[in-house]
Amino acid sequence: MADFVGAVDQGTTSTRFMIFDRGGNEVGRHQLEHEQILPRAGWVEHNPVEIWERTSAVIRTAMNTRGLDASDLAALGVTNQRETSVVWNRRTGRPYYNAIVWQDTRTDQIAAALDRDGRGDVIRQKAGLPPATYFSGGKIQWILENVDGVRAAAESGEAIFGNTDTWLLWNLTGGVDGGVHITDVTNASRTMLMNLETLDWDDELLSFFDIPRAMLPQIRPSSDPSRYGVTLAGGPLGGEVPLTADLGDQQAATVGQVCFAEGEAKNTYGTGNFMLLNTGTSIVRSKSGLLTTVCYKLGDAPAVYALEGSIAVTGSAVQWLRDQLGIISGAAQSEALAAQVEDNGGVYFVPAFSGLFAPYWRSDARGAIVGLSRYNTNAHLARATLEAICYQSRDVAVAMEQDSGVHLDVLKVDGGVTANRLCMQMQADILGVPVSRPVVAETTALGAAYAAGLATGFWKTTDELRQNWNESERWSPTWSDEQREEGYAKWKKAVQRTLDWVD
Ligand code: ADP
Repeated sequence: MADFVGAVDQGTTSTRFMIFDRGGNEVGRHQLEHEQILPRAGWVEHNPVEIWERTSAVIRTAMNTRGLDASDLAALGVTNQRETSVVWNRRTGRPYYNAIVWQDTRTDQIAAALDRDGRGDVIRQKAGLPPATYFSGGKIQWILENVDGVRAAAESGEAIFGNTDTWLLWNLTGGVDGGVHITDVTNASRTMLMNLETLDWDDELLSFFDIPRAMLPQIRPSSDPSRYGVTLAGGPLGGEVPLTADLGDQQAATVGQVCFAEGEAKNTYGTGNFMLLNTGTSIVRSKSGLLTTVCYKLGDAPAVYALEGSIAVTGSAVQWLRDQLGIISGAAQSEALAAQVEDNGGVYFVPAFSGLFAPYWRSDARGAIVGLSRYNTNAHLARATLEAICYQSRDVAVAMEQDSGVHLDVLKVDGGVTANRLCMQMQADILGVPVSRPVVAETTALGAAYAAGLATGFWKTTDELRQNWNESERWSPTWSDEQREEGYAKWKKAVQRTLDWVD
Protein backbone atom coordinates (compact mmCIF):
# COMPACT_ATOMS: atom_id res chain seq x y z
CA MET A 1 0.00 0.00 0.00
CA ALA A 2 1.15 3.50 -0.77
CA ASP A 3 2.17 5.26 2.45
CA PHE A 4 3.19 8.62 1.03
CA VAL A 5 2.11 11.57 -1.08
CA GLY A 6 4.49 13.60 -3.28
CA ALA A 7 4.48 17.29 -4.15
CA VAL A 8 6.35 19.29 -6.77
CA ASP A 9 6.90 22.91 -5.66
CA GLN A 10 8.01 24.88 -8.69
CA GLY A 11 9.14 28.18 -7.08
CA THR A 12 10.65 31.39 -8.39
CA THR A 13 14.22 30.61 -7.38
CA SER A 14 14.14 26.81 -7.22
CA THR A 15 12.12 23.68 -7.76
CA ARG A 16 11.73 21.10 -5.02
CA PHE A 17 10.13 17.71 -4.69
CA MET A 18 8.91 16.67 -1.26
CA ILE A 19 7.48 13.44 0.08
CA PHE A 20 5.13 13.40 3.11
CA ASP A 21 3.66 10.67 5.29
CA ARG A 22 0.12 10.48 6.69
CA GLY A 23 1.08 12.66 9.67
CA GLY A 24 2.19 15.44 7.29
CA ASN A 25 5.84 14.79 8.21
CA GLU A 26 8.53 15.23 5.61
CA VAL A 27 10.19 11.95 4.66
CA GLY A 28 12.27 13.10 1.71
CA ARG A 29 13.15 16.05 -0.48
CA HIS A 30 15.45 17.39 -3.12
CA GLN A 31 15.78 20.92 -4.44
CA LEU A 32 17.58 22.64 -7.34
CA GLU A 33 17.85 26.30 -8.32
CA HIS A 34 17.37 27.52 -11.86
CA GLU A 35 18.82 30.50 -13.67
CA GLN A 36 17.33 33.97 -13.26
CA ILE A 37 17.61 35.50 -16.72
CA LEU A 38 17.71 39.33 -16.55
CA PRO A 39 18.06 40.54 -20.16
CA ARG A 40 17.20 44.20 -19.44
CA ALA A 41 16.23 46.41 -16.51
CA GLY A 42 12.81 45.25 -15.32
CA TRP A 43 12.79 42.02 -17.34
CA VAL A 44 12.90 38.64 -15.56
CA GLU A 45 12.75 35.32 -17.43
CA HIS A 46 13.16 31.60 -16.76
CA ASN A 47 13.96 28.85 -19.25
CA PRO A 48 10.97 26.44 -19.21
CA VAL A 49 13.07 23.55 -20.52
CA GLU A 50 15.51 24.01 -17.64
CA ILE A 51 12.58 24.07 -15.21
CA TRP A 52 11.25 20.76 -16.56
CA GLU A 53 14.74 19.21 -16.40
CA ARG A 54 15.20 20.41 -12.81
CA THR A 55 11.77 19.06 -11.90
CA SER A 56 12.61 15.62 -13.31
CA ALA A 57 15.97 15.65 -11.50
CA VAL A 58 14.58 16.59 -8.08
CA ILE A 59 11.86 13.93 -8.32
CA ARG A 60 14.37 11.21 -9.28
CA THR A 61 16.90 12.18 -6.61
CA ALA A 62 14.39 12.47 -3.76
CA MET A 63 12.79 9.11 -4.63
CA ASN A 64 16.13 7.31 -5.10
CA THR A 65 17.59 8.73 -1.89
CA ARG A 66 14.66 7.25 0.06
CA GLY A 67 14.60 4.04 -2.01
CA LEU A 68 11.00 4.68 -3.08
CA ASP A 69 9.22 4.01 -6.35
CA ALA A 70 5.94 5.09 -7.95
CA SER A 71 3.94 2.42 -6.08
CA ASP A 72 4.85 4.11 -2.77
CA LEU A 73 3.00 7.30 -3.73
CA ALA A 74 -0.78 7.47 -3.34
CA ALA A 75 -0.98 10.72 -5.28
CA LEU A 76 1.04 13.63 -6.61
CA GLY A 77 0.28 17.34 -6.33
CA VAL A 78 1.82 20.30 -8.13
CA THR A 79 2.21 23.84 -6.81
CA ASN A 80 3.93 26.68 -8.59
CA GLN A 81 5.09 30.27 -8.80
CA ARG A 82 1.93 31.92 -10.04
CA GLU A 83 1.45 34.22 -13.07
CA THR A 84 4.81 33.27 -14.69
CA SER A 85 3.79 32.57 -18.28
CA VAL A 86 4.93 29.99 -20.84
CA VAL A 87 3.71 29.62 -24.43
CA TRP A 88 4.78 26.47 -26.24
CA ASN A 89 4.04 24.35 -29.29
CA ARG A 90 1.92 21.31 -28.47
CA ARG A 91 3.30 19.36 -31.45
CA THR A 92 7.02 19.90 -30.85
CA GLY A 93 6.93 20.58 -27.11
CA ARG A 94 9.19 23.59 -27.62
CA PRO A 95 8.54 26.94 -25.89
CA TYR A 96 8.27 29.90 -28.28
CA TYR A 97 9.91 32.18 -25.73
CA ASN A 98 11.32 32.05 -22.20
CA ALA A 99 8.82 32.08 -19.35
CA ILE A 100 8.02 35.71 -18.46
CA VAL A 101 8.23 35.82 -14.67
CA TRP A 102 5.66 37.45 -12.38
CA GLN A 103 8.18 40.14 -11.32
CA ASP A 104 8.80 41.22 -14.93
CA THR A 105 7.61 44.78 -15.65
CA ARG A 106 7.92 44.89 -19.47
CA THR A 107 4.12 45.02 -19.79
CA ASP A 108 3.71 48.29 -17.88
CA GLN A 109 2.34 50.08 -20.96
CA ILE A 110 -0.19 47.29 -21.52
CA ALA A 111 -1.29 47.59 -17.88
CA ALA A 112 -1.43 51.40 -17.96
CA ALA A 113 -3.59 51.38 -21.11
CA LEU A 114 -6.18 49.19 -19.38
CA ASP A 115 -6.79 51.91 -16.83
CA ARG A 116 -7.17 54.69 -19.36
CA ASP A 117 -10.36 53.48 -21.03
CA GLY A 118 -12.41 51.76 -18.34
CA ARG A 119 -11.28 48.20 -19.06
CA GLY A 120 -9.40 48.25 -15.76
CA ASP A 121 -12.62 48.54 -13.78
CA VAL A 122 -14.15 45.60 -15.64
CA ILE A 123 -11.06 43.55 -14.74
CA ARG A 124 -11.34 44.64 -11.09
CA GLN A 125 -14.98 43.64 -11.01
CA LYS A 126 -14.80 40.35 -12.92
CA ALA A 127 -11.32 39.06 -12.06
CA GLY A 128 -10.82 40.73 -8.65
CA LEU A 129 -7.43 42.14 -9.73
CA PRO A 130 -6.12 45.64 -10.42
CA PRO A 131 -4.51 45.86 -13.89
CA ALA A 132 -0.79 45.30 -13.26
CA THR A 133 2.31 43.86 -14.90
CA TYR A 134 2.18 41.11 -12.25
CA PHE A 135 -0.57 38.98 -13.84
CA SER A 136 -0.42 36.64 -16.85
CA GLY A 137 -2.81 38.37 -19.28
CA GLY A 138 -0.42 41.13 -20.35
CA LYS A 139 2.50 38.69 -20.54
CA ILE A 140 0.57 36.47 -22.98
CA GLN A 141 -0.39 39.53 -25.03
CA TRP A 142 3.28 40.57 -25.16
CA ILE A 143 4.34 37.15 -26.49
CA LEU A 144 1.52 37.17 -29.06
CA GLU A 145 2.60 40.62 -30.27
CA ASN A 146 6.37 40.21 -30.16
CA VAL A 147 7.28 36.64 -31.07
CA ASP A 148 7.02 35.68 -34.73
CA GLY A 149 4.42 33.12 -35.70
CA VAL A 150 2.81 32.77 -32.28
CA ARG A 151 -0.49 34.50 -33.02
CA ALA A 152 -1.43 32.28 -35.97
CA ALA A 153 -0.33 29.17 -34.06
CA ALA A 154 -2.36 30.27 -31.03
CA GLU A 155 -5.49 30.76 -33.12
CA SER A 156 -5.18 27.24 -34.52
CA GLY A 157 -4.62 25.81 -31.03
CA GLU A 158 -1.06 24.72 -31.77
CA ALA A 159 0.58 27.33 -29.52
CA ILE A 160 -0.71 26.82 -26.00
CA PHE A 161 -0.35 28.84 -22.82
CA GLY A 162 0.23 27.77 -19.27
CA ASN A 163 1.73 28.93 -16.03
CA THR A 164 4.46 26.61 -14.78
CA ASP A 165 1.84 24.25 -13.21
CA THR A 166 0.31 23.66 -16.64
CA TRP A 167 3.72 23.27 -18.28
CA LEU A 168 4.79 20.63 -15.73
CA LEU A 169 1.46 18.76 -15.74
CA TRP A 170 1.62 18.60 -19.55
CA ASN A 171 5.17 17.22 -19.43
CA LEU A 172 4.47 14.81 -16.53
CA THR A 173 1.51 13.29 -18.40
CA GLY A 174 3.32 12.68 -21.67
CA GLY A 175 4.04 16.03 -23.33
CA VAL A 176 3.81 15.74 -27.12
CA ASP A 177 2.41 12.22 -26.67
CA GLY A 178 -0.91 13.35 -25.22
CA GLY A 179 -0.01 15.47 -22.21
CA VAL A 180 -3.02 17.09 -20.48
CA HIS A 181 -3.52 20.84 -20.91
CA ILE A 182 -5.11 21.94 -17.65
CA THR A 183 -4.78 24.40 -14.81
CA ASP A 184 -6.71 24.95 -11.59
CA VAL A 185 -9.00 27.71 -10.37
CA THR A 186 -6.33 29.31 -8.16
CA ASN A 187 -3.80 29.69 -10.95
CA ALA A 188 -6.48 30.81 -13.40
CA SER A 189 -7.54 33.51 -10.92
CA ARG A 190 -4.13 35.19 -11.40
CA THR A 191 -4.39 35.81 -15.13
CA MET A 192 -6.93 38.71 -15.33
CA LEU A 193 -8.79 36.35 -17.72
CA MET A 194 -10.99 34.29 -15.37
CA ASN A 195 -14.34 35.42 -14.02
CA LEU A 196 -14.38 34.86 -10.24
CA GLU A 197 -18.08 34.01 -10.25
CA THR A 198 -18.27 31.56 -13.17
CA LEU A 199 -14.74 30.18 -12.58
CA ASP A 200 -14.33 30.09 -16.36
CA TRP A 201 -12.38 32.12 -18.93
CA ASP A 202 -14.36 35.25 -19.73
CA ASP A 203 -14.76 36.31 -23.38
CA GLU A 204 -14.83 40.03 -22.57
CA LEU A 205 -11.62 39.75 -20.54
CA LEU A 206 -9.97 37.70 -23.31
CA SER A 207 -10.92 40.40 -25.82
CA PHE A 208 -9.09 43.08 -23.74
CA PHE A 209 -5.82 41.25 -24.40
CA ASP A 210 -6.77 39.78 -27.79
CA ILE A 211 -6.04 36.26 -26.52
CA PRO A 212 -7.56 33.33 -28.47
CA ARG A 213 -9.47 30.96 -26.19
CA ALA A 214 -7.99 27.97 -28.06
CA MET A 215 -4.60 28.52 -26.39
CA LEU A 216 -5.92 28.40 -22.82
CA PRO A 217 -5.95 25.32 -20.57
CA GLN A 218 -9.08 23.74 -19.13
CA ILE A 219 -9.79 25.00 -15.58
CA ARG A 220 -10.16 22.24 -12.97
CA PRO A 221 -10.67 22.06 -9.18
CA SER A 222 -7.49 22.44 -7.07
CA SER A 223 -8.06 18.99 -5.59
CA ASP A 224 -9.71 16.69 -8.08
CA PRO A 225 -10.96 13.16 -7.27
CA SER A 226 -11.48 12.57 -11.01
CA ARG A 227 -7.70 13.16 -11.39
CA TYR A 228 -6.05 15.23 -14.13
CA GLY A 229 -4.03 12.30 -15.43
CA VAL A 230 -1.26 9.93 -14.37
CA THR A 231 2.52 10.17 -14.51
CA LEU A 232 4.12 8.00 -17.17
CA ALA A 233 6.30 4.92 -16.79
CA GLY A 234 8.91 6.68 -18.96
CA GLY A 235 8.90 9.80 -16.75
CA PRO A 236 10.87 10.74 -13.64
CA LEU A 237 8.74 8.63 -11.29
CA GLY A 238 9.17 5.56 -13.49
CA GLY A 239 5.52 4.55 -13.08
CA GLU A 240 1.92 5.67 -12.84
CA VAL A 241 0.90 7.97 -9.99
CA PRO A 242 -2.43 9.87 -10.06
CA LEU A 243 -2.06 13.63 -10.46
CA THR A 244 -4.85 15.01 -8.30
CA ALA A 245 -3.88 18.51 -7.10
CA ASP A 246 -2.74 21.79 -8.57
CA LEU A 247 -2.63 25.09 -6.65
CA GLY A 248 -0.72 28.34 -6.89
CA ASP A 249 2.05 28.41 -4.29
CA GLN A 250 0.41 30.94 -1.97
CA GLN A 251 -2.91 29.15 -1.99
CA ALA A 252 -1.07 25.87 -1.34
CA ALA A 253 0.68 27.45 1.65
CA THR A 254 -2.72 28.54 2.99
CA VAL A 255 -3.86 24.91 2.78
CA GLY A 256 -0.56 23.73 4.31
CA GLN A 257 -1.14 26.12 7.23
CA VAL A 258 -4.64 24.56 7.55
CA CYS A 259 -6.37 27.96 7.19
CA PHE A 260 -9.63 26.24 6.27
CA ALA A 261 -11.95 28.52 8.27
CA GLU A 262 -13.15 31.96 7.28
CA GLY A 263 -10.99 34.58 9.03
CA GLU A 264 -7.82 32.45 9.16
CA ALA A 265 -4.68 33.88 7.54
CA LYS A 266 -1.03 33.13 6.83
CA ASN A 267 1.96 35.14 5.63
CA THR A 268 4.63 33.50 3.45
CA TYR A 269 8.12 35.04 3.26
CA GLY A 270 9.94 33.97 0.09
CA THR A 271 11.20 35.95 -2.91
CA GLY A 272 8.22 38.18 -2.17
CA ASN A 273 5.68 38.10 0.67
CA PHE A 274 2.10 36.97 0.36
CA MET A 275 -0.54 37.28 3.05
CA LEU A 276 -3.79 35.44 2.39
CA LEU A 277 -6.99 35.65 4.42
CA ASN A 278 -9.63 32.96 3.90
CA THR A 279 -12.98 34.71 3.26
CA GLY A 280 -15.04 31.53 2.88
CA THR A 281 -17.37 31.15 -0.08
CA SER A 282 -17.97 34.90 -0.39
CA ILE A 283 -16.12 37.08 -2.87
CA VAL A 284 -14.90 40.08 -0.83
CA ARG A 285 -13.93 43.01 -3.06
CA SER A 286 -11.09 45.08 -1.71
CA LYS A 287 -11.30 48.83 -1.15
CA SER A 288 -7.77 48.96 0.25
CA GLY A 289 -5.51 47.66 -2.51
CA LEU A 290 -5.72 43.91 -1.92
CA LEU A 291 -6.50 41.23 -4.48
CA THR A 292 -9.54 39.00 -4.50
CA THR A 293 -8.50 35.52 -5.49
CA VAL A 294 -9.59 31.90 -5.35
CA CYS A 295 -8.14 30.23 -2.25
CA TYR A 296 -8.95 26.64 -3.27
CA LYS A 297 -11.67 24.41 -4.64
CA LEU A 298 -11.79 20.90 -3.25
CA GLY A 299 -13.60 18.60 -5.69
CA ASP A 300 -17.30 19.43 -6.11
CA ALA A 301 -17.47 21.65 -3.01
CA PRO A 302 -17.99 25.37 -3.74
CA ALA A 303 -14.85 27.44 -4.28
CA VAL A 304 -13.37 29.19 -1.25
CA TYR A 305 -12.03 32.70 -1.83
CA ALA A 306 -9.30 34.81 -0.23
CA LEU A 307 -8.14 38.38 0.11
CA GLU A 308 -4.46 38.62 -0.71
CA GLY A 309 -1.74 41.17 -0.05
CA SER A 310 1.12 40.52 -2.46
CA ILE A 311 4.52 42.14 -1.93
CA ALA A 312 6.98 41.85 -4.81
CA VAL A 313 10.33 42.17 -3.06
CA THR A 314 11.17 40.79 0.40
CA GLY A 315 13.59 37.81 0.38
CA SER A 316 14.86 39.01 -3.00
CA ALA A 317 16.05 42.23 -1.31
CA VAL A 318 18.27 39.97 0.81
CA GLN A 319 19.49 38.33 -2.43
CA TRP A 320 20.27 41.84 -3.68
CA LEU A 321 22.48 42.49 -0.63
CA ARG A 322 24.28 39.25 -1.51
CA ASP A 323 24.47 39.37 -5.32
CA GLN A 324 24.52 43.04 -6.30
CA LEU A 325 26.07 44.73 -3.24
CA GLY A 326 28.15 41.77 -2.06
CA ILE A 327 27.83 42.78 1.62
CA ILE A 328 26.85 39.24 2.69
CA SER A 329 27.93 35.90 1.25
CA GLY A 330 24.67 34.06 1.91
CA ALA A 331 21.09 35.01 2.80
CA ALA A 332 21.43 33.61 6.33
CA GLN A 333 24.31 35.98 7.03
CA SER A 334 21.89 38.92 6.88
CA GLU A 335 20.82 37.97 10.41
CA ALA A 336 24.31 38.13 11.95
CA LEU A 337 25.12 41.37 10.11
CA ALA A 338 21.88 43.06 11.20
CA ALA A 339 22.43 41.87 14.77
CA GLN A 340 25.69 43.84 14.97
CA VAL A 341 23.65 46.99 15.56
CA GLU A 342 20.83 47.70 18.02
CA ASP A 343 18.54 49.50 15.60
CA ASN A 344 18.33 50.77 12.02
CA GLY A 345 20.36 53.92 12.82
CA GLY A 346 17.70 56.03 11.10
CA VAL A 347 17.95 54.13 7.78
CA TYR A 348 14.82 53.03 5.88
CA PHE A 349 15.01 51.00 2.70
CA VAL A 350 12.03 50.66 0.34
CA PRO A 351 13.01 47.88 -2.09
CA ALA A 352 10.55 48.84 -4.85
CA PHE A 353 12.62 47.09 -7.53
CA SER A 354 9.53 45.85 -9.39
CA GLY A 355 7.39 48.83 -8.49
CA LEU A 356 5.21 48.53 -5.42
CA PHE A 357 2.50 45.89 -5.23
CA ALA A 358 -0.12 45.78 -2.45
CA PRO A 359 -1.54 48.04 -1.24
CA TYR A 360 0.01 50.71 -3.52
CA TRP A 361 -0.03 49.12 -6.99
CA ARG A 362 2.49 51.51 -8.54
CA SER A 363 4.48 49.66 -11.20
CA ASP A 364 6.50 52.83 -11.87
CA ALA A 365 7.84 53.17 -8.29
CA ARG A 366 11.55 52.47 -7.81
CA GLY A 367 13.59 51.71 -4.70
CA ALA A 368 15.02 54.19 -2.22
CA ILE A 369 17.31 54.19 0.80
CA VAL A 370 16.64 57.23 3.01
CA GLY A 371 17.95 58.65 6.27
CA LEU A 372 21.65 57.94 5.66
CA SER A 373 24.35 59.62 7.71
CA ARG A 374 28.09 59.00 7.76
CA TYR A 375 27.65 56.94 10.92
CA ASN A 376 25.73 54.22 9.04
CA THR A 377 27.26 50.89 8.06
CA ASN A 378 26.40 47.73 6.15
CA ALA A 379 24.82 46.46 9.36
CA HIS A 380 22.26 49.30 9.37
CA LEU A 381 21.42 48.54 5.75
CA ALA A 382 20.98 44.83 6.54
CA ARG A 383 18.71 45.79 9.42
CA ALA A 384 16.72 48.19 7.25
CA THR A 385 16.32 45.40 4.67
CA LEU A 386 14.86 43.00 7.22
CA GLU A 387 12.65 45.76 8.62
CA ALA A 388 11.40 46.53 5.09
CA ILE A 389 10.16 42.94 4.85
CA CYS A 390 8.19 43.50 8.07
CA TYR A 391 6.93 47.02 7.34
CA GLN A 392 5.61 45.94 3.95
CA SER A 393 3.75 43.15 5.74
CA ARG A 394 2.31 45.69 8.17
CA ASP A 395 1.01 47.76 5.23
CA VAL A 396 -0.79 44.66 3.99
CA ALA A 397 -2.12 43.70 7.44
CA VAL A 398 -3.59 47.19 7.85
CA ALA A 399 -5.35 46.90 4.46
CA MET A 400 -6.67 43.46 5.35
CA GLU A 401 -8.18 44.68 8.59
CA GLN A 402 -9.84 47.60 6.76
CA ASP A 403 -11.35 45.32 4.13
CA SER A 404 -12.47 42.44 6.29
CA GLY A 405 -12.77 43.78 9.84
CA VAL A 406 -10.73 40.75 10.93
CA HIS A 407 -8.03 41.64 13.47
CA LEU A 408 -5.38 38.93 13.59
CA ASP A 409 -4.42 37.92 17.12
CA VAL A 410 -1.53 35.82 15.86
CA LEU A 411 0.22 35.72 12.48
CA LYS A 412 1.04 32.26 11.08
CA VAL A 413 4.22 32.47 9.01
CA ASP A 414 6.28 30.24 6.71
CA GLY A 415 8.81 30.45 3.84
CA GLY A 416 12.58 30.79 3.45
CA VAL A 417 12.97 34.10 5.31
CA THR A 418 11.32 32.73 8.48
CA ALA A 419 14.62 30.92 9.15
CA ASN A 420 15.77 34.42 10.15
CA ARG A 421 14.80 34.68 13.84
CA LEU A 422 15.78 38.31 14.12
CA CYS A 423 13.49 39.16 11.23
CA MET A 424 10.59 37.27 12.85
CA GLN A 425 11.17 39.15 16.13
CA MET A 426 11.11 42.41 14.16
CA GLN A 427 7.83 41.32 12.58
CA ALA A 428 6.22 40.79 15.99
CA ASP A 429 7.56 44.19 17.13
CA ILE A 430 6.48 46.07 14.00
CA LEU A 431 3.04 44.46 13.81
CA GLY A 432 2.34 44.32 17.52
CA VAL A 433 1.00 40.75 17.38
CA PRO A 434 2.72 37.42 18.07
CA VAL A 435 4.23 35.55 15.13
CA SER A 436 3.96 31.75 15.01
CA ARG A 437 5.89 29.30 12.83
CA PRO A 438 4.83 25.65 12.39
CA VAL A 439 7.12 22.62 12.64
CA VAL A 440 6.78 21.95 8.91
CA ALA A 441 7.97 25.23 7.41
CA GLU A 442 7.52 23.88 3.86
CA THR A 443 3.82 24.63 3.91
CA THR A 444 3.62 25.22 0.15
CA ALA A 445 4.65 21.68 -0.77
CA LEU A 446 2.67 20.33 2.19
CA GLY A 447 -0.49 22.10 1.00
CA ALA A 448 -0.15 20.60 -2.48
CA ALA A 449 0.36 17.18 -0.91
CA TYR A 450 -2.72 17.69 1.32
CA ALA A 451 -4.87 18.67 -1.67
CA ALA A 452 -3.59 15.63 -3.63
CA GLY A 453 -4.18 13.22 -0.75
CA LEU A 454 -7.67 14.58 0.01
CA ALA A 455 -8.67 13.79 -3.58
CA THR A 456 -7.75 10.11 -3.31
CA GLY A 457 -8.95 9.49 0.27
CA PHE A 458 -5.38 9.25 1.64
CA TRP A 459 -6.65 11.93 4.04
CA LYS A 460 -10.39 11.94 4.67
CA THR A 461 -11.21 15.44 5.92
CA THR A 462 -9.65 18.85 6.44
CA ASP A 463 -10.20 18.37 10.20
CA GLU A 464 -7.84 15.41 10.07
CA LEU A 465 -5.20 17.74 8.57
CA ARG A 466 -5.66 20.30 11.37
CA GLN A 467 -4.38 17.67 13.81
CA ASN A 468 -1.06 17.68 11.97
CA TRP A 469 -0.36 21.39 12.57
CA ASN A 470 2.07 22.04 15.43
CA GLU A 471 3.82 25.24 16.44
CA SER A 472 7.62 25.15 16.52
CA GLU A 473 8.38 28.72 17.53
CA ARG A 474 6.61 31.91 18.59
CA TRP A 475 7.85 35.53 18.80
CA SER A 476 6.06 38.11 20.96
CA PRO A 477 6.14 41.90 20.56
CA THR A 478 8.68 43.73 22.75
CA TRP A 479 8.42 47.30 21.39
CA SER A 480 6.31 49.96 23.12
CA ASP A 481 3.30 51.26 21.16
CA GLU A 482 5.07 54.59 20.83
CA GLN A 483 8.16 53.00 19.32
CA ARG A 484 6.00 50.99 16.94
CA GLU A 485 4.00 53.97 15.69
CA GLU A 486 7.05 56.18 15.34
CA GLY A 487 8.83 53.55 13.23
CA TYR A 488 5.75 53.00 11.07
CA ALA A 489 5.29 56.73 10.45
CA LYS A 490 8.89 56.94 9.20
CA TRP A 491 8.36 53.93 6.96
CA LYS A 492 5.31 55.58 5.40
CA LYS A 493 7.37 58.72 4.75
CA ALA A 494 10.06 56.60 3.07
CA VAL A 495 7.43 54.95 0.84
CA GLN A 496 6.17 58.40 -0.12
CA ARG A 497 9.71 59.30 -1.27
CA THR A 498 9.75 56.38 -3.73
CA LEU A 499 6.48 57.64 -5.23
CA ASP A 500 7.55 61.31 -5.27
CA TRP A 501 10.65 60.28 -7.20
CA VAL A 502 8.60 59.18 -10.22
CA ASP A 503 5.66 61.61 -9.94
P1 ADP B 1 10.64 30.99 -3.19
O1 ADP B 1 9.67 29.87 -2.93
O2 ADP B 1 10.00 32.32 -3.50
O3 ADP B 1 11.70 30.64 -4.18
P2 ADP B 1 11.80 30.48 -0.52
O4 ADP B 1 10.68 30.28 0.44
O5 ADP B 1 12.63 29.31 -0.91
O6 ADP B 1 11.36 31.32 -1.80
O7 ADP B 1 12.77 31.57 0.15
C1 ADP B 1 13.88 32.03 -0.53
C2 ADP B 1 14.13 33.48 -0.17
O8 ADP B 1 14.39 33.57 1.24
C3 ADP B 1 15.32 34.08 -0.87
O9 ADP B 1 14.93 35.32 -1.45
C4 ADP B 1 16.37 34.30 0.21
O10 ADP B 1 17.08 35.51 0.01
C5 ADP B 1 15.54 34.37 1.47
N1 ADP B 1 16.21 33.79 2.65
C6 ADP B 1 16.54 32.51 2.85
N2 ADP B 1 17.13 32.34 4.07
C7 ADP B 1 17.14 33.56 4.65
C8 ADP B 1 17.61 34.06 5.91
N3 ADP B 1 18.15 33.26 6.83
N4 ADP B 1 17.46 35.39 6.16
C9 ADP B 1 16.90 36.21 5.25
N5 ADP B 1 16.44 35.79 4.05
C10 ADP B 1 16.56 34.50 3.75
